[in-house]
Amino acid sequence: MKVLDKGKLELIDFMGSDEKVISMATISTDKEIVKERYESFIYSLVMKGHHVPFEHCQFTFYIKAPIFVLRQLMRYRTGSYSERSMRYTEGLADFYNPDSNQAIEKLNDNECDLYYDLRKERNKKEMARIVYSLNIYSELYMTIDLRNLINFLSFRTDKHTQKESREYANKIIEILEQYNCFKYSVKAIKDYIKLYQHIRSFHTEKDLKNIYRMMIDYKNNKGEK
Ligand SMILES: Cc1cc2nc3c(=O)[nH]c(=O)nc-3n(C[C@H](O)[C@H](O)[C@H](O)COP(=O)(O)OP(=O)(O)OC[C@H]3O[C@@H](n4cnc5c(N)ncnc54)[C@H](O)[C@@H]3O)c2cc1C
Repeated sequence: MKVLDKGKLELIDFMGSDEKVISMATISTDKEIVKERYESFIYSLVMKGHHVPFEHCQFTFYIKAPIFVLRQLMRYRTGSYSERSMRYTEGLADFYNPDSNQAIEKLNDNECDLYYDLRKERNKKEMARIVYSLNIYSELYMTIDLRNLINFLSFRTDKHTQKESREYANKIIEILEQYNCFKYSVKAIKDYIKLYQHIRSFHTEKDLKNIYRMMIDYKNNKGEK
């Protein structure tokens, strides 16, 4: 799947399904969940924050992105990462330039020329690479379990995240939606993410306290009926 001008995102491998989440969750109670209840059961696990069963599902993504994006995506310590090395390879020499900005193009061309000049002068790759800007593309594999992917997506699809990183996170959701075996999990996760992004969008203590009170009132009123 294409992302940005020269980026890519692919799901390389995965393990698990909605059924697996349910098996992992129900071992503790020995209660069988009938197929008709899968959707509501998964919804309740996600919304109530019972996320451990989701750790048994894993995903490996191939990501080609500019370094400034990878730097944000790699903050998720619970993922495992293997990245192309610019000590051992010449790197990709592709640059992010969304509006084909002439000045940026010129800068990147100059960087490439300087890189190869330095290499001709027998400088090591690990040294020559320091001339490149943050918009140079790199590539990596990221393996992450579904519990931590929920956390990742919750932050990185948020409007406060930089547009470019957000594009990768949104595309991850698009990819997951293509897998029927995760249809109930993905549906619930999208609601969970929206709820927490909504809560995060309130900045003042007063607003947050009002939300808290509204939720408590709702629960109390419901109990009285
Ligand atoms: C809009 C936005 C702006 C940001 N700006 C900045 C910035 O300016 N500077 C900056 O440095 N970062 C910034 N960040 C990064 C942010 O602070 C987090 O590092 C990033 O979102 C990773 O989140 P995480 O720790 O929940 O994820 P992960 O590292 O994947 O961790 C997942 C969860 O595991 C648990 N966990 C992981 N490690 C530990 C630990 N050591 N101890 C206890 N629990 C742990 C926590 O519950 C954590 O939520 C920004 C993030 C966003 C979304």
